[in-house]
Amino acid sequence: MAVPQNKITRSRRGQRRSHDSLSGANPNECPNCGELKRPHHVCGACGHYDDREVVALVEDVDLDEDAA
Ligand SMILES: [Zn+2]
Repeated sequence: MAVPQNKITRSRRGQRRSHDSLSGANPNECPNCGELKRPHHVCGACGHYDDREVVALVEDVDLDEDAA
């Protein structure tokens, strides 16, 4: 079994972990519906991008339709 040759000091471990923190998301407001959305992504709430509707939203999907 591989064993570390030297102890990682608290200082060195902390220096490694200094890059581990996650940065927060940077949401933009959708110009169409005002919902917060990811920058440069289609709005998940209304399907618009750059004032155009690029993804048509389905109102509700009936899963039992194909079962019969
Ligand atoms: Zn939207």
